[in-house]
Amino acid sequence: MNHHVRMFGLVVALLGLPAAVAAQDASFTVGPVTVQPGQRVSGFLEVPAGVDEGTRIPFTLVHGSEPGPVLALIAGTHGYEYAPILALQWMRPQIRPENLTGTVILVHIANLPSFLGRTIYYSPIDGKNLNRVYPGKADGTVSERIAYAITTEVIERADYVVDMHCGDGNEALRPYTYWMKTGNAELDEASKQLALAFGLDHIVVDTDRPNDPQASLYTSNTALTRGKPSITTETGQLGQTEFEQVTMAMRGVHGLLSHLGMMASFQEPLPAERVVWLDHYEVVRSPETGVFRAMVKPGHTVAKGTLLGYLSDFFGEKLAEIRAPFAGMVNYVVATPPVRKGEPLAMVSHIQAEN
Ligand SMILES: [Zn+2]
Repeated sequence: MNHHVRMFGLVVALLGLPAAVAAQDASFTVGPVTVQPGQRVSGFLEVPAGVDEGTRIPFTLVHGSEPGPVLALIAGTHGYEYAPILALQWMRPQIRPENLTGTVILVHIANLPSFLGRTIYYSPIDGKNLNRVYPGKADGTVSERIAYAITTEVIERADYVVDMHCGDGNEALRPYTYWMKTGNAELDEASKQLALAFGLDHIVVDTDRPNDPQASLYTSNTALTRGKPSITTETGQLGQTEFEQVTMAMRGVHGLLSHLGMMASFQEPLPAERVVWLDHYEVVRSPETGVFRAMVKPGHTVAKGTLLGYLSDFFGEKLAEIRAPFAGMVNYVVATPPVRKGEPLAMVSHIQAEN
């Protein structure tokens, strides 16, 4: 849609007519909220009770006075990931509808049960990871119903989708963006440009996501399997709310709005001067339930076999030494003690040779 707007502007300019684009005349509706051109309205997507209790999803629609792309920004897929949640709250007054081309959907907290329950990874209601149950089910458990609501009301309405994460409450993390390649060259290039516009200087190239739209599992992959450019961003860590972590995500959003031609940014976006491309990765998982002590920090480079940390039992007796599977860098590492068998301990990425 963005390209049509630009093309129209170009044609008008060539004809020597005023280069103004037609004013937006259509309203935009998500769930129970309808917004008129030039308005910003907030409300809730209701997720009614079903096989378990219901919830609601707080969101804001900003509808520009000129038509253009629909950008969905989703925070709080994991409720203990605060920096992106605060970033969208702080962005809300900064995205002024009178200065906006197109429409922004801000999903403030996708997973309210996890946010209010202060849980990492899993919903306190059904024990499921919201970012593994997409596209969701209308009659499933609460996480599946949240996913279904976001798929049908947000992702399917958007042209571009950004799923905003950070290190979870237990994870120390160095900021990076996932660029998920699908094999569709045009779609992949558009997603790559989103990743670059968001401005983080480490980009993980991910070629390993499912391509079935009915088993898309992840938020951003739900967009990609529906032909919409999408990225997942990681800014912040450990349940922290430091100014720098929040503003890093805000600068990323400004970069996207500027890149998509939706808003001239007063806050200079931060395009990465030089990107470190990480061309494959492995999430190292815990072989046992126990107590983890990390021996590396996020951003550290490691050799194959470098000690990432020790796993011990509940008495402090060593169970295992956790080592790097190959040479690369540590994207994140679990930095608080509890860990269950099969849960992530660290993510190690291979640094692309031509960096
Ligand atoms: Zn997350």
